[in-house]
Amino acid sequence: MHDVIVCGSGPAGSYLSHVLASEGYDVVNLEEHGEIGRPVECTGVVTSRVFSYVKSSSIANRVRGAHVYFPGGGEISIGKSEETIVIYRDSFDRDVAAMAVASGADVRLSSRVLSVAASEDGATVRFRSGGNIREERARIVVGADGANSIVRKDLYGIRPSRMVSTYQVDAAVRLDDQDSVSVYLGSGTSHGFFAWAVPTGDITRIGLGTTGKGARNLFANLEKRFPPNRILGITGGPIPIAYVPRTYGNRSILVGDAAGIVKPLTGGGIYTGVVSAHHAARAISEALDQEDYSESFLARYQKYWKGQLGRELWMDGIIQRVFAGLGDRALDGIYRMISSPKAVSLINSVGDIDYPSKLVITLILRHPWILANFFRRSPNSE
Ligand SMILES: Cc1cc2nc3c(=O)[nH]c(=O)nc-3n(C[C@H](O)[C@H](O)[C@H](O)COP(=O)(O)OP(=O)(O)OC[C@H]3O[C@@H](n4cnc5c(N)ncnc54)[C@H](O)[C@@H]3O)c2cc1C
Repeated sequence: MHDVIVCGSGPAGSYLSHVLASEGYDVVNLEEHGEIGRPVECTGVVTSRVFSYVKSSSIANRVRGAHVYFPGGGEISIGKSEETIVIYRDSFDRDVAAMAVASGADVRLSSRVLSVAASEDGATVRFRSGGNIREERARIVVGADGANSIVRKDLYGIRPSRMVSTYQVDAAVRLDDQDSVSVYLGSGTSHGFFAWAVPTGDITRIGLGTTGKGARNLFANLEKRFPPNRILGITGGPIPIAYVPRTYGNRSILVGDAAGIVKPLTGGGIYTGVVSAHHAARAISEALDQEDYSESFLARYQKYWKGQLGRELWMDGIIQRVFAGLGDRALDGIYRMISSPKAVSLINSVGDIDYPSKLVITLILRHPWILANFFRRSPNSE
């Protein structure tokens, strides 16, 4: 019996495998694809915080600002002294997996998890590998298998309550401003979320997320903003923007997208996934040391990760739900409220894509009339 079987070799699963294997535990990591990091389903925007966990130099660009476009034509440009980093997501994932392998984890490619069961005497993982169906057992199984997690389905029977669908292309378009991302708000290109263009030299990652259906149709509107016939590749996939109520169970733990531990306002889940893996490693290591794999013992994992991320994800979730309900007129109303030089300078000094609620709360505290105007302009009034 292995100590731990980790299902999925994305950033969360590989980082967790690395930490546990480096502590000397017997860790198997199962990845369905034959290559780590492929296919890429990500824009790759992170802050430098992620590099305090992960050693990687797969950096495509560094940006300091954002142009935010409102549906009525308004635009605000914000900029910061700290850099936001755009990674090559495929090589980033390989770098994290390399940390796991170097620490002694048994990373197995082309190993698709089919089902998972947990009982008093162990967790059993059934997977397909090399055309054969195999079964292996572990003291603890971890669901690091992304938004459509099999571990979550089999052991928890739940899904994150809110999901965003995405559509993104790599386009042979060079943006004039390589130092800023562009963010597009409004019903023309997204319902309840936003669209983006992220420069990486001669290639721009152009995409959108939407809480409704029809991401492809919305993209038809977005692509009109760019020169035609430049698409080099298409990607997309679901982003969970609400964590599941229970991220631990008898002999099991969920991390990263599998748990819905993602920033609801931006859909960013690389940093939060790695942070959840860091806390999972601590809880699992304690469970293995004390030979207690019960749900009540592993409940500490949720306390650990919520201690670092819970308040932010909860606040962001509330803000995201309010934002998702805003119509175009309300968004343009917000533009009028925050486009003054004073408000833009506040955004520049307080804005942080890992902890965005701080900015929203500061804006409201310093300019309480925003809240009053906001409710006057709520979609019900349109
Ligand atoms: C279009 C798009 C853009 C995004 N942009 C950003 C961004 O700019 N910044 C950011 O921080 N986040 C972004 N995200 C979110 C980010 O990609 C995820 O939050 C992050 O990848 C979560 O990491 P993870 O390790 O939990 O899961 P994943 O990266 O999804 O890894 C899960 C792994 O499990 C494997 N797997 C799945 N099922 C099985 C199975 N049955 N058996 C074995 N293996 C399995 C998968 O192949 C995969 O390797 C974006 C997402 C999308 C869709």
